[in-house]
Amino acid sequence: VAKESGKNRYHIFDTDQDDAVKAKNLRLKAIRSALDNHQFVLHYQPKVNMRTGTVIGVEALIRWQHPERGLLNPIEFLPVIENHAMSIELGEWVIATALSQISQWQEMELNIPLSISVNIAAVQLQQCDFTARLAILLATYPDVEPHYLELEVLETSALDDVQHVSEIMDACIALGVKFALDDFGTGYSSLTYLRRLPASLIKIDQSFVRDMLNDAGDLAIVEGVIALAKLFKREVIAEGVESIEHGRALLQLGCELAQGYGIARPMPASDFPAWISDWKPDISWQD
Ligand code: C2E
Ligand code: MG
Ligand code: MG
Ligand code: MG
Repeated sequence: VAKESGKNRYHIFDTDQDDAVKAKNLRLKAIRSALDNHQFVLHYQPKVNMRTGTVIGVEALIRWQHPERGLLNPIEFLPVIENHAMSIELGEWVIATALSQISQWQEMELNIPLSISVNIAAVQLQQCDFTARLAILLATYPDVEPHYLELEVLETSALDDVQHVSEIMDACIALGVKFALDDFGTGYSSLTYLRRLPASLIKIDQSFVRDMLNDAGDLAIVEGVIALAKLFKREVIAEGVESIEHGRALLQLGCELAQGYGIARPMPASDFPAWISDWKPDISWQD
C-alpha cells in the first residue's frame, strides 16, 4: 500500500510539473508572437530637476499592447522571459526604440537636451557581446550622442560577478553611455555595488521614498543614500515622488532630481511633446 501511494504521489507530481511546463511554454509562445507582431511599446516617464525646474530626461518603460487584455505592465511578462534568449532580443528592441525616439524628439526641436534611461536585465548585460551590440545600436543613431543614453541596472543576484560586470560597464562607458543603479537599497549588496560598479547615478527606491514623510526609518534610509551618493560623488535621483511634499522634503535633504506620479505618469511617446510644452518649470518645490 505504501509503495502504491508513493507511486501515486509521484504520478501526481509529474502531471503538475507537466502542466506547469506547458503553461510556461504557452506564455513563451505568446511573447514570441507579440515580438513578431510588434505589440510591445515604450512609455516614457519624465525626470526633472526640482531646483531648476528643468526636465532632464525620460525613462523608457515597456508595455505590452495585448490584443485582448489591453495594456500590460512589465511585471506581467518580463518574469516569464527572465533567463530566456528572448529577453536579450526584447532588450535590444528597447534600446533601439528608445534611441530612435530620442532622435525623433531631437528633430522636433523640443529645445531641451533630453537623456533617455533604459532598464537593462542583468542577463542582457552579461552577454559576451553586449558592448559590441550596443556599439552597433549607437552607430545606427549617429545623431544621438551616447552620453544621452543611460542604462539602469538592478541589484540582483545575477550581478554576483561584480568584477566581470564592472568590466562590461567600463567598456560601455568607453562608448560614452552612462549607468544608473536602479532600486538602490533593496538588494543584498547595495554597498558593494556602489563601491565597485562605475554607475554615475543612484536611484533611491520608491519604497523608501513613499513613506519617508511618516516613517522615520525610511526617512533615515533616504537621508543615508543621499549622503552616500555625495561621498561617492555620484548623482542621486528619487523614484516614486508622488506629491509636492515629497519633492520639498527631498530638495531640503539635498536631492534635486526626481521622478514620480507627482510630476508625471509614464505616457505614450505621442503625449510627450504636449506634456513638455505644458510643463511649468516654476513649480514651487522650494516653499
Ligand atoms: P523601475 O525601473 O524601477 O521603474 C519604475 C516603476 O515605478 C515603473 O513601473 C513606473 O511606472 C513606476 N512608477 C513611477 N513613478 C511612480 C510613483 O510615483 N508611484 C508608484 N507607485 N509607481 C511609480 P513599471 O513601468 O510597471 O515597471 C516596473 C519595472 O519593470 C521597472 O522598475 C523595471 O525594473 C522593469 N522594466 C520596465 N521596463 C523595462 C524594460 O524595458 N526592460 C527591462 N529589463 N526591465 C523593464
Ligand atoms: Mg528603472
Ligand atoms: Mg526603480
Ligand atoms: Mg523597480
